[in-house]
Amino acid sequence: MSTGFQERLANGNAVENAITVDLQARGVCVKKFGQALLAPDVRDRLKTTQSLLRWLPDLAGWQPSKPGMFLIDAKATMRRATANHSIELRVLLAARFTMLPTFYICDDFRALAADDIWPDGPILRTCCDGCWEKALADPTGRLLPSKCPEHARRGGGGSGTPYALVKKLHCRPLESLFGPVMTGAGDRRSTGSTSSDPRGA
Ligand SMILES: [Zn+2]
Repeated sequence: MSTGFQERLANGNAVENAITVDLQARGVCVKKFGQALLAPDVRDRLKTTQSLLRWLPDLAGWQPSKPGMFLIDAKATMRRATANHSIELRVLLAARFTMLPTFYICDDFRALAADDIWPDGPILRTCCDGCWEKALADPTGRLLPSKCPEHARRGGGGSGTPYALVKKLHCRPLESLFGPVMTGAGDRRSTGSTSSDPRGA
């Protein structure tokens, strides 16, 4: 049975693979990160907690010629016809906790840098003032509710996770962050996700 969740998961993997291929064409090394590295039973246990480890980005990247590394979250939401980008507050807090540059790369191949957004960046609004204040008051996320109380009060569907909205116009082209696609790499984006799946699926 294909549930909505499974479809979102499959779509998320396709976006993650397409973004991996694009960054590799720019000379960036990209490897799996975050929950993908954990043993399944550890991952299941983490779900019973509110640890920021649950919100670590999916990918790690680096330029082979330079020290350091950065983290990447692939987001499969950008083609929706909204002007804004929704990012969970815990995702923003987790990015600061890693002390690594973190980028949210979208399926339109544009990116938001976490450091540009939080806490002084162009946040349009958050789910509610209460969640915003709690996120600012404790950067470990301990004060944040798992579900936004305002979201529940408005009778909203979905997870109700506290979130921030950022205008998509603040997204930057990948070229400005990671350099140009190298000659000879070809336009592999147009080949779709089937040929780019590192698992050979
Ligand atoms: Zn809220």
